[in-house]
Amino acid sequence: MKTAKDGAREEARVVIVVPFLNEEENLPVLYERVRTVMEGRPESWEILFVDDGSSDASARRVAELAGKDERVKLLRLSRNFGHQIAITAGMDHADGDAVVIMDADLQDPPEVIPRLLDKWREGYEVVYAVRSRREGETWLKRLLAAGFYRIFRKMASVEVPLNAGDFRLVDRRVVDALKGVRELHRFVRGLTSWVGYRQGAVYYERAARHAGRTKYPLWKSVNLAWDAVTSFSGAPLRWIMGAGMLVSVGGLVLAVRIIVGRILHPESMQPGWATVVALILVVGGVQLICLGLLGQYVSRVFEESKKRPLYFISEKVGDFGEAGR
Ligand code: UDP
Ligand code: MG
Repeated sequence: MKTAKDGAREEARVVIVVPFLNEEENLPVLYERVRTVMEGRPESWEILFVDDGSSDASARRVAELAGKDERVKLLRLSRNFGHQIAITAGMDHADGDAVVIMDADLQDPPEVIPRLLDKWREGYEVVYAVRSRREGETWLKRLLAAGFYRIFRKMASVEVPLNAGDFRLVDRRVVDALKGVRELHRFVRGLTSWVGYRQGAVYYERAARHAGRTKYPLWKSVNLAWDAVTSFSGAPLRWIMGAGMLVSVGGLVLAVRIIVGRILHPESMQPGWATVVALILVVGGVQLICLGLLGQYVSRVFEESKKRPLYFISEKVGDFGEAGR
């Protein structure tokens, strides 16, 4: 039996948002594969490519595609703003009933899109594509990712799925909800979980990158993880307070022991300079780490309080209609 909502989703429009940085070899292949899988689907579709400051021929490739197929659109950011901001820019300019976010390197296979759409038709407003296998990634990255998601879930008390990247479908309502979230240090994956609504998952095998090299070296992933933690949780601040208390109590116990020792056995006094110096260094180091951590949160407050725009657009190719603003 079909509900009114199903009916609406029948003639639905889906916008596929693809942020890219120097992916000239992948974009035309991605377009072809999307076109093939969307053939015969009831939804009308378009691809919104977001150029995150590429310096190769990627933008030209997309413009060529846009010249041949009006379902291809290009949004160029004025410089490299980073993957998460590029996704945000794409969502801001996508006017579909559903928006699919996927990487440009074909690690997220377009063949999964119909399954995302089917799940969406069942009434889910966020549909994650969860990777059951990851090809072509180093064991270190995999290990760190696995550890990170587990810790993040505990800390942020947000139900982010394990093993899901940014590849997902979000309903119009979620896109609109996210438009109201303008923080600069953003972890889009966390935010789409955080907004709530009905969330579901489909499983797929993550492919290896089609061509080119990763634009996410380990340090960028670590930065993203750090943004995720600091933008979702103040737990580290509580941890350092706990550590501070522990050290203080330890120090106090030691002090009492020394005083009692002196009274009971005045003859057993020992020099102990080395111990004192070591203690000063350790405690001093811990204090500096804590200060640095605090500084990180303060600097986040500073940066967010400036309320700068998240990105600037240098060019649009294709008809952006209502979403063009
Ligand atoms: N990307 C981007 N801006 C950046 C870095 C990456 O738009 O500053 C894009 C990149 O082109 C790709 C996606 O983000 O479409 C994921 O990056 P990548 O595949 O290099 O990351 P990995 O899969 O290796 O983690
Ligand atoms: Mg990739």
